[in-house]
Formats: sequence, structure tokens, C-alpha cells
Amino acid sequence: MIETKGYAAQSADTDLAPWAFERREVGPHDVQFDILFCGVCHSDLHQIKNDWFPGIFPMVPGHEIVGRVVKVGDHVKKFKVGDLAGTGCLVDSCQVCENCKKDLEQYCLEGSTGTYNSLERDGKTPTYGGYSNTIVVREEFVLHVSDKLNLAAVAPLLCAGITTYSPLRHWKVGKGHKLAVLGLGGLGHMAVKFGVAFGAEVTVLSTSPKKEEDARKLGAHNFVVTTDEAQVKAAMGTFDFILDTVSAEHDFKMYLSLLRTDGTMICVGVPSKPAEIPAFSLLGGRKSVAGSGIGGIAETQEMLDFCAAHNIVSEIEMIDMKDIHTAYERMEKGDVRYRFVIDMATL
Ligand code: NAP
Ligand code: ZN
Repeated sequence: MIETKGYAAQSADTDLAPWAFERREVGPHDVQFDILFCGVCHSDLHQIKNDWFPGIFPMVPGHEIVGRVVKVGDHVKKFKVGDLAGTGCLVDSCQVCENCKKDLEQYCLEGSTGTYNSLERDGKTPTYGGYSNTIVVREEFVLHVSDKLNLAAVAPLLCAGITTYSPLRHWKVGKGHKLAVLGLGGLGHMAVKFGVAFGAEVTVLSTSPKKEEDARKLGAHNFVVTTDEAQVKAAMGTFDFILDTVSAEHDFKMYLSLLRTDGTMICVGVPSKPAEIPAFSLLGGRKSVAGSGIGGIAETQEMLDFCAAHNIVSEIEMIDMKDIHTAYERMEKGDVRYRFVIDMATL
């Protein structure tokens, strides 16, 4: 077994604290890489607090992981010691179901294996995430990372990046479309960058007027403060798509009124409580509400390659491991500019 250092929550009501645990030995198809940086996703906070469902504790969060390969199994073909590597929200899936065969491992019909707060395919071994010094992952779920980009700023692409890239590609959002990005946080700021790169006219819908300047620097064409009635009224019926990245309860009725006829609201944010969606908000204008979960492995690699080619990374604030609690507090208040990344050298 591999002795590993990490930060774990021992239960839903205890803070993260240092914790030592073991990872499996590197098998013939495994890659082990030492973790250099790990992004802090709002999903980490939701899960250690049992916001969605009772979690598996002790829990080591973290699914925006980048680092350098230190060992590979005998059958590993795509990686060698010294390569940069990344892992996102998935570390395994059945690999044989209809969805896995279509490169949609995130929708594995047997249930995909999450990087943490999940069980390995044996149904009993817990998985532990990236707030740790090293990780062992089967080769198919390890991504190649460009050495041309700032590695720390690449980490958030593994979740925030793919979660926004995938729906924009699926719905073919681009030239001629008006895209609204709802919530300017970790996911939201990546959605702005991709929306702009794909040629859409991008508007940020935000509760934080102070973020306007940043939104424009990220490439957004317009900014609507959603607590300002006049601004909301002026935006009514104007968007083809709303990409909803909000992590807390919010008013779907109001946001749906901003869609054009045949417009689609794509939910990627996961508030702890279900939303209320009046049928009238949909039928008046034949509107749709849809959802999208992260992205498959092939598409994640495609996104990383796209980012390397277009020089796209996340806007980050680097933190020491011990400062994770302050980072969570700020994230909860919507005060994240725009992704915290843990420097694992401080573990
Ligand atoms: P984040 O960085 O905290 O950003 C969320 C943003 O939502 C905030 O910055 C804020 O932006 C806005 N917001 C917060 N509370 C709000 C409220 N009550 N009403 C309106 N807007 C509010 O979080 P994140 O890491 O981007 O994650 C966002 C959500 O996506 C989380 O629920 C996370 O679990 C989920 N997620 C889903 C997937 C998936 O596969 N679908 C993957 C990763 C994460 P403003 O200040 O601009 O208003
Ligand atoms: Zn995430």
C-alpha cells in the first residue's frame, strides 16, 4: 500500500484536518502521480456538508487534480514517469455499457466511480480525492496536460472547465447565439471564456455588481445585476441559452422569463433543494430546462487540448492547504475570484 497524506473531514460536522491514509499499489494498468495543485470546487463543500446525500467519511475532497507521474504499471502505454497528468471527477466506470462505449462515462449505467465520496468497482473500497500528496488512477481516467500553460491554473479545467465546455458543445452554442451565464464563480467564469471562444454573445447574470469589471475582462459583452429590477426587465426574452451555475436556491421563474421563445436553460449548478418550475414559465415560449454533468474522458482531453491551443486557463487564487476553511467561507459568500487552488507543497 502507498502511505498518503491528505486533508479529510471525519464527519459532516467536523472541519477538514490532516489525515494519513493508504492508496492501493500501482497495478499493471495504473498511473501514480504526485499532486502539485488541486482546485477547490463548490461540490467539495456541498459534499463534506452532506448537502446532497449522506457522504462516505472520512472524506478527502478534491477533483481538479494535476501533478507529475512517479510510477506507471507494466501495461500502461500513454504515460511515463515525469509526464504531467490530471484527473477530474471520475476515476472509473464499467467501460462496457452503452454510455461508456459512447465516451459518456459520467453517465455510466452501472454508476461511475467518483474521485472521492464514492466506492471503487469492488463496491466497498472508498475513493479519496485530491487534497492529498499522491494518487493512483487507472490509465483510462488520467488526462494529458500541456506543459505550455500555468499548471496551477489548469487544475480547475478538470471540473469547472469540462462542466461548462461539455454543455456548450452539446447544445452547439456559438456564433449568432445569445448566451447568459448565470453566476460568476468557478464554473461561471470558465463558461464565459468558452462562450466567447465559441463565438456567442455572452451576458453575465450576477448578484454581485462588483464583478462587472472582471466579467468584461473575461470577455463578457454584457453584465446584468439580477437584483436590479430595471436591468432584469430590460433583459427579458433575450437569451437563447442560460447556463445556470448557481450553487444555492434561486428563482427559476424569474430566470426563465429571460429566455427567448425556444430557449433552453441548462442547469449545471446543484443547489441542495429542488427548484420550483411553474409550467407556465415553460409553455409560454416553448422553453426547456435541461441539465448536464461534467463530461466524458475523451471530451475532457479535447477540452484540455482546446485550452492549450487557445491559451485558456482558469483565473485562480492560490492558497495553502491550512487556509481551506477561509476559502470555503469566502466561496459560500460568492467571494471567489474565480477559483481557489491549493498548492500541495503546503500540505
Ligand atoms: P462557486 O464558485 O461558488 O460559484 C457559484 C456562483 O453562484 C457564485 O459565485 C455566485 O455568483 C452565484 N450564487 C451563489 N449563491 C447564489 C444565489 N443564492 N442566487 C444567485 N446566485 C448565486 O461554485 P462553483 O464551483 O462554480 O459550482 C457551482 C455549482 O455547480 C455548485 O452547486 C456545484 O456543486 C455545481 N457543479 C456541478 C457540476 C456538474 O457536473 N453539473 C460540476 C461541478 C460543480 P454571483 O456572485 O455572480 O451571483
Ligand atoms: Zn467540481
